[in-house]
Order: sequence, then structure tokens, then C-alpha cells
Amino acid sequence: MSSSTPPQCLVRGSINIDEFFHLPHIVRPGETISSSKLSRGAGGKGANQANAVARAGGNVVMDGCIGEDGIWVRDGLERAGVDVGRVMVVQEQMTGRAIIQLAEDGENSIVLHKGANYHTPPSDTSPSLSGITHLLLQNEIPLPSTLAYLRAAHSGGVTSIFNPSPMLSGEKLRQFPWACLSWLIVNEGELTDLLKETGLAVPSTTGSAPASAPTTTPEAPIASAARAEMLLFRRSNADLGLICTLGARGILYLPAGSQTVGYLPAATVVNGVVDTTGAGDCFAGYFAAGLMRDEDLETTLRTCLTACAMCVEKAGAMESVPSRAKVEARIA
Ligand code: ATP
Repeated sequence: MSSSTPPQCLVRGSINIDEFFHLPHIVRPGETISSSKLSRGAGGKGANQANAVARAGGNVVMDGCIGEDGIWVRDGLERAGVDVGRVMVVQEQMTGRAIIQLAEDGENSIVLHKGANYHTPPSDTSPSLSGITHLLLQNEIPLPSTLAYLRAAHSGGVTSIFNPSPMLSGEKLRQFPWACLSWLIVNEGELTDLLKETGLAVPSTTGSAPASAPTTTPEAPIASAARAEMLLFRRSNADLGLICTLGARGILYLPAGSQTVGYLPAATVVNGVVDTTGAGDCFAGYFAAGLMRDEDLETTLRTCLTACAMCVEKAGAMESVPSRAKVEARIA
């Protein structure tokens, strides 16, 4: 991609309607209970991340499928500053749906229906990435579509970011073309699954770096097992940038070609943790927007961490993502 092309991010991913049922407890088999409150919101990791790129000030196009029942979600994304010209309304299909039970004790339980997210438009076979400089992918659409976009990005010199949640497994994971990918973002559980499935797992008895792997600090490092796993994955994926998010502890990062795992703590949560839903999507969207600005990596990561800390201070997956102006005001 020519350096004169203005940065534009494409998110090919899921768009959902989230329905929240507020209940005394999670429904048991055979039981019927009334919910005290029912609320509805826009969701899906693709839509959440596109919203986050826009909130972070990035120029972003959403590419995904909805049914007619999801037009309000598309319109909401557009109001948030996302270009929805590539959102397809599929006749006779329902928009992807998440039925979320929220119990009084804080427990939750989720039923997902893929709906239109699993529709594959003909354009998925040979996607056009004309004018696109950055591609952001998750794993809530058919894998062949994800792979077609990733390969198109690789051959077109487009920077790609993959946040595979849910994590791939089995042959799908073992066959994944990591060499086509620029950045992989996972959390600790996903990282462990990734290593196990690819046959690279660090022995769980040690919980620390293997003898031959370089360590980054003389004292016991935070998330030493995750550090060791990142370095192991590095051995077969030299050109892939890796980020592992650690919830309230922050992140580990390993840029392409580097043998040193960096650590940044989570930013201070000023107003108390209200809801961590969508923090990972906030991170991915802010990260893509930072890459689009071509600033140094640590600046981007620190901005992501502040955005995430502000995100967990509010309820919701999209509404909780702060604007870049607010993030910069918090950093200043
Ligand atoms: P999810 O899929 O639930 O959105 P995730 O597992 O992909 O989340 P996390 O590691 O939980 O991602 O969170 C992403 C980032 O959000 C973390 O790296 C951290 O910076 C921030 N974060 C999450 N939880 C907290 C918290 N309790 N306090 C401060 N920051 C947090």
C-alpha cells in the first residue's frame, strides 16, 4: 500500500443484536422465570471493534451482514462515524443474536445465534480491499471469509490485525496462514489454547519460560507463562506482532522480529470498574486506529490502555468506548 494512501480500516466481522434479560438467577433446565428488565443493544465483535476504531478517530468501513431486523444497528454504527456502505441486508435472515441472562449475583449466561453473520456474499470469495490500508478481523464469521480477506490483505500490502475470539481449534488453527498476518491480539486463555492446539504448549508444571527462551526481567515477571508462550510462538512466526491482554494487569507485547516481551500495566481506573464487557474490543479498535496514525508502538499501546480503563468504568460494549479526545484529556 502506497504511503500516500490515507489510512482506512476495514472491519470484516459480526454484527449482533444483544438482548439482556435481568433475572434473579440463571434459568435452570425446565424452569421458567420472569425477567425484571429487558434491554437491547447493538453488539457483535466486528461491530464493537468498528465502533471503537471510529471512537478512536480512525476512518473505518464495516463489512458484514444483517437481517432487516438489524437495520437500527447499522444506522447506529453510521451515527457513530462508521462507513456502513459494505453492510449487506440479507433477506429472510435474522441478524445475529445474543440472548444474555444477567443474574442478580453478577453471573451471566449467553446463547448465541449466528444468523446473517454466517451468510457469505459472493464478494467474500475475492474481496476488494481497494483504498484499505488496515484490516481488522475477529472470529465470528465463517472462517473461509476471514481467510479470503486476510490473504487479500497480505497480497495487497494491507496491515492486518486478528483478534480470534472465540479462538480457532483443531485443523482450522493448525492450518492458519500466520505468515499472512501482521498482528495477533489474544487474551491469556486464548494464547494457551493457541499453543496447545498447535502442539507448542509450555509444560504447565513450570509456569515459567523454558530454559532456552530469553527472559525480560531478573525478578519474577508478570504472567510468566504467557511470556514463555509468546516466545515459543515467536520461534515459528518471526514476522508476526503479538499482543496478549491480561485484564486488570494490562498487556504483554512482542513486536515482529523482537525477542523481548514488553509489559505495560493497565491504566488506572478512576471511577471504579463497572463492566468489563467489550474491553477487549475497545483495545483492538484503538490499536488499529493507533497503527493507522503510524505513531510509535508504545504511544499507541498506552493510548489503548487508557481507553480500556475508561471503557470498564461504564456499562455496555459500544457506549462505554471513550472518544479519543476524552482519552487524551485523561492522559494529559
Ligand atoms: P473481552 O473479550 O471480555 O472484551 P478480553 O479478554 O479480550 O476481554 P481483557 O484482557 O479482559 O480482554 O481486557 C482488555 C484490556 O482492558 C486489558 O488489557 C486492560 O488494559 C483493560 N482492562 C480490562 N479489565 C480491566 C480492569 N478491571 N481494570 C483496568 N483495566 C482493565
